[in-house]
Amino acid sequence: QVPLKPGRSLMDWIRLTKSGKDLTGLKGRLIEVTEDELSKHNKKEDCWICIRGFVYNVTPYMEYHPGGEDELMKAAGTDGTDLFDQVHRWVNYESMLKECLVGRMAVKPIAAPKGGLCYEILSIILYVQNYLEIMRKPKKYIFFSLLYFLFYSYDWFQTDSLITVVIYTKQKDVNAELVIVDCQDKQLRGEIIMDDHSYLVEVDLDHAVSEDVAVNIAEKVGKVEIILNKKDSIHWKTLGQPWEGHNTFIKRTDRGLFYRKCKLVSKTEVTHDTKLFCLMLPKGTHLRVPTGQHIYLKQIIAGTEVVKPYTPVLPFLPLDFQEPPHHDGVHIYLMIKIYSHGLFTQALDHLQIGDYISVSNPEGNFKKSQVQTSEDLLLLAGGTGFTPMVKLLNFALTEVSCLRTVKLIFFNKTEDDILWRNQLEQLALKDERFEVQFILSQPSKEWVGKQGKISSSLLSEFVKRSRRDSKVLICICGPAPFTEQGVRYLKDLGYSQEEIHAFTA
Ligand code: FAD
Ligand code: NAP
Repeated sequence: QVPLKPGRSLMDWIRLTKSGKDLTGLKGRLIEVTEDELSKHNKKEDCWICIRGFVYNVTPYMEYHPGGEDELMKAAGTDGTDLFDQVHRWVNYESMLKECLVGRMAVKPIAAPKGGLCYEILSIILYVQNYLEIMRKPKKYIFFSLLYFLFYSYDWFQTDSLITVVIYTKQKDVNAELVIVDCQDKQLRGEIIMDDHSYLVEVDLDHAVSEDVAVNIAEKVGKVEIILNKKDSIHWKTLGQPWEGHNTFIKRTDRGLFYRKCKLVSKTEVTHDTKLFCLMLPKGTHLRVPTGQHIYLKQIIAGTEVVKPYTPVLPFLPLDFQEPPHHDGVHIYLMIKIYSHGLFTQALDHLQIGDYISVSNPEGNFKKSQVQTSEDLLLLAGGTGFTPMVKLLNFALTEVSCLRTVKLIFFNKTEDDILWRNQLEQLALKDERFEVQFILSQPSKEWVGKQGKISSSLLSEFVKRSRRDSKVLICICGPAPFTEQGVRYLKDLGYSQEEIHAFTA
């Protein structure tokens, strides 16, 4: 993020988009844009960018871009989809930039078929290729889809009262975190995650079903059953009408984020500015957020969809790490700092108990296997950067047998900002493998503990292997500059890329 000029916040941008001002310079007309035309608009004062086949005039947005003008200019006059996906795929640009829409990229002309079946087929292939290119679907997409049809398939059957959809993945170790099911308003969506790809069953059901859904997973054979209760005991002729992504196996990043509405059931104070929000999943949803992953919350603020990422935590830090944590599968807990001028968190803080908010599927590139082979786990957290550490701590102390030491080095401004201090101190007393070190950047005179900002000398003092050659994993999360500096210092201290995991968007 770069400092923005006054009057250039997201809220100011939303206001400008609602002002009725012509932001494209085309008086509301939509045009077909050729590559040649796009490339001409490559200056700060005249900048067009293509995202997923749609072209936006981002000139008026320049000063409002939280990442700065130079970041935006990297894609000026070109297709910025890859760059956009790398940095913030989750941002709802369709909503944010809808007043900047210039039009679609023109489909490249293809040679007219010269007659005969071969030419017909060739022209269809060319057309599809061209379309996929424009819609940013890689050619690999077709290959993977075909390949995985060999592995993934689904079937369904019925009794008088039940519909059972069975998905055969033929993969071992399909667990509850890899299966996401949503059934609402006659729409069924079942997604099975396999690394960075997923298989999807998505249909408008033939008839109504009741709200509650059961999901059975046969882990060893990779079979997933979704059991729905018929509302009326009638014979279904089909499962329903397929949606666009139905029965496909593609990269997860090529699917849009899917949201369901969750009910706010409680909101409790953690510190003077941070609250623990408890959200309840709908009855028809089966979703577990894996350790180290985040979800996105979506709210409509002043008529514009705004999306922000948050990392689910546990309701509290279990002190007795004897049993694997019990997930009730129904609640999601979020520890969220409310910023006095924050657009999203202010709106969030105004939600009443019983209100609904949209929650996405989980995302993130942390893999539990990174911890499973570690002997020393070091967690560096800055402020709410503590949130991914909560489940991680719990997982490490409960399920990783080779772990000898777990150390949390927790950076905050003041004593009042320390999240769950009491619980962390209790845990350190209870489990001898765990140690916590609080470091304050703006302490009061009374503070007798460590003080300072993240630095090479502080890290060399606290980040150590328990044995000369022990396997170490260092996880770091906090404000972006904190994380970036931390990673740099760790590398200077001789830790390798594989030994460091930085949590980012
Ligand atoms: P914003 O409107 O973005 O403002 C936040 C503060 O920064 C305000 O004080 C504002 O005045 C200032 N500000 C904003 N932009 C600028 C700028 N360009 N220049 C100067 N000042 C600026 N947060 C949590 O509390 N809990 C979590 O679990 C959590 N998980 C996250 C997970 C991920 C993967 C990521 C990337 C972030 C996570 N965050 C989390 C942060 C969260 O997504 C939001 O960024 C945060 O809640 C602030 O949102 P906001 O819209 O209220 O604030
Ligand atoms: P904060 O209270 O402002 O800061 C926490 C600590 O970090 C303080 O000691 C602070 O020191 C230090 N710090 C802040 N900016 C720094 C910088 N530029 N360089 C070095 N140290 C710095 O933090 P917060 O408001 O809770 O913010 C937490 C951040 O974590 C947010 O930006 C959020 O997006 C991010 N986060 C990311 C993820 C994720 O990626 N998965 C998850 C959760 C949270 P001083 O300010 O006194 O210098």
